Amino acid sequence: MATQFDVIVIGAGPGGYVAAIRAAQLGLTVACIDQWKNAKGGPAPGGTCTNIGCIPSKALLQSSENYEHARHHFADHGIKIGDLSLDLARLLARKDTVVKQNNDGIIYLFKKNKIAFFHGSGSFAARSDAGVEVEVTPVAADKPAEKLLGRHVIVATGSDPRALPGVAFDEKLILSNDGALSIANVPARLGVVGAGVIGLEMGSVWRRLGADVTVLEALPAFLGAVDQDVAKEAQKVFARQGLKIHLSAKIDGVKSGSGGVTVNWTDAKGTAQALECDRLIVSIGRVPNTRGLNAAAVGLALDERGFVAVDNDCRTNVPNVWAIGDVVRGPMLAHKAEEEGVAVAERIVGQHGHVNFNTIPWVIYTSPEIAWVGQTEQQLKQAGRAYKAGSFPFMANGRARALGDTTGFVKFLADATTDEILGVHIIGPVASELISEAVVAMEFRASSEDIARICHAHPSLSEATKEAALAVEKRTLNL
Ligand SMILES: Cc1cc2nc3c(=O)[nH]c(=O)nc-3n(C[C@H](O)[C@H](O)[C@H](O)COP(=O)(O)OP(=O)(O)OC[C@H]3O[C@@H](n4cnc5c(N)ncnc54)[C@H](O)[C@@H]3O)c2cc1C
Repeated sequence: MATQFDVIVIGAGPGGYVAAIRAAQLGLTVACIDQWKNAKGGPAPGGTCTNIGCIPSKALLQSSENYEHARHHFADHGIKIGDLSLDLARLLARKDTVVKQNNDGIIYLFKKNKIAFFHGSGSFAARSDAGVEVEVTPVAADKPAEKLLGRHVIVATGSDPRALPGVAFDEKLILSNDGALSIANVPARLGVVGAGVIGLEMGSVWRRLGADVTVLEALPAFLGAVDQDVAKEAQKVFARQGLKIHLSAKIDGVKSGSGGVTVNWTDAKGTAQALECDRLIVSIGRVPNTRGLNAAAVGLALDERGFVAVDNDCRTNVPNVWAIGDVVRGPMLAHKAEEEGVAVAERIVGQHGHVNFNTIPWVIYTSPEIAWVGQTEQQLKQAGRAYKAGSFPFMANGRARALGDTTGFVKFLADATTDEILGVHIIGPVASELISEAVVAMEFRASSEDIARICHAHPSLSEATKEAALAVEKRTLNL
């Protein structure tokens, strides 16, 4: 006899675990199934984000930035350090501790919200008038499989890294984001294929720790989806930091052996090149993960790219089966997965959960950080929308000078007639935090004048946001 729940969530990444919590808050009985194992074989809820994504990458970015500051920037503050050395094992262990704290936090939240957690893989078994049957195969080999019956099922099975055709990840020499977070010795020469968010973040970590990093990007434009003023500034800064970035690079072949990895590639001029490196990170995007779901058992439809097909409200083609996060269309971002999880739980109880795709912030946690919300200038031009632009450099911001980090700027784009904010783009210190003000403003459909009239603390980096809003009307105060 199957154990019955109002909601069964398959996957405990940021989409799944947050959906489970919201459903439980709304008074539903909830089960959440997740197969992720920690090094000891125990449960490690949190998905890609917690285990091999957002959280460990930010831990390494912070540690490596601290190291770089100690090596190159503390002297500017009058702080002298004698023999500086890197304890990479300790640095990696700290990252693992941060991950574990997050895993444990989710286990605590499941208990607090009375969510039944199953450490195993979930697959569809059948569907009937009584509900949807899901079979759990426990991770522990000595435990029997279990059947659960859900009135609703939420699929939140996430995504996997995309490999180069014919080049499998071995996580020793050819690394996905997983292996890239745990290299035991700083490689002298590190190759990165793909100059997207993950490639740039991981490339930055290992460059700061001492690797000579070369990034090969297939597209002709650097960060093509980013506002091009920001992308140009970023490319300049990254080159100055020592990241070697080659655009229009076509990968012809990858060979690995005891001597390391050779990447044969063709450059923008059509000349054959060879990149010799000790390790290669391949970060060319991610693919939805529906492996092991047994989607066919309930007739769950996938789209042509392998994502679970959903409507705007995350409904699949199967009644009462929903799907959220990386396994469905839309940006592969943890906070997008979370928002969809909350909205689906609310829709299940008849509320009107809502996700505004126009105000989802994007962040690249390099140094300087890059963050944006809304439309880019190139998108507005393409759409023929009349707009006004204003920007303000951190160079003219007192707090940035005090920090010793004056790279970058804040840029506003507002409707030419109504002044409604259409996009905000930031490259600079803690852009990831500064962008929240723009998200709130856009959620409330504020005008650039609204931000320009709001009192911002002095001295603070957020004054650059206010000044950029003032710049839309060409009336900056400090420039
Ligand atoms: C290196 C890196 C850095 C990133 N940094 C950021 C960042 O800074 N900010 C950001 O917003 N996003 C970031 N992302 C993206 C982010 O991690 C994903 O968008 C997010 O994890 C998606 O959440 P999800 O819940 O959809 O899926 P996931 O987090 O992938 O979770 C899916 C879970 O489902 C489990 N599962 C799969 N199939 C089954 C099954 N059949 N039965 C049981 N369990 C199953 C998996 O084991 C996993 O635990 C990063 C990604 C990477 C790789």
